[in-house]
Amino acid sequence: MIDSENVTSRIRNEIMERCDQDVNACIQCGRCTASCPVVPAMDLLPREIMLHLQNGTLQRVLDSKTPWICASCFSCAARCPRNLDISRVMEAVRVKLLRPRGAIVLSPGKLSREMLQKLPPQALVSGFRKFSK
Ligand code: SF4
Ligand code: SF4
Repeated sequence: MIDSENVTSRIRNEIMERCDQDVNACIQCGRCTASCPVVPAMDLLPREIMLHLQNGTLQRVLDSKTPWICASCFSCAARCPRNLDISRVMEAVRVKLLRPRGAIVLSPGKLSREMLQKLPPQALVSGFRKFSK
């Protein structure tokens, strides 16, 4: 739980630096949400993630399961009229949450040959994006 305005601001800045996306440019049009294939499983819509980051209500983002549900499919980025890439925002939030816990690191060398052959490529790419930093 974030307990001070300064800490909130610092963490928000870290996330913004890491994703290199200007969340304040978001106009809340909702096209990202409309194009996202996994919205039914999310507790915050992609548009709402951007809204909370704009408003500084960071705890809602950090408590949300949405960044973990995001499949990094880039549908939102392809349709955003402001050229924002929400998958990078989601990734930055995940990294922020993982780092203090000692960071789970996943690399191809840690998976068996059988897993590499059987897992769908999308799952592998998504997994490496989520757990490689
Ligand atoms: S599509 Fe882009 S501008 Fe529209 S709500 Fe999503 S992030 Fe914001
Ligand atoms: S990158 Fe994530 S938030 Fe964007 S459309 Fe795909 S699953 Fe949804």
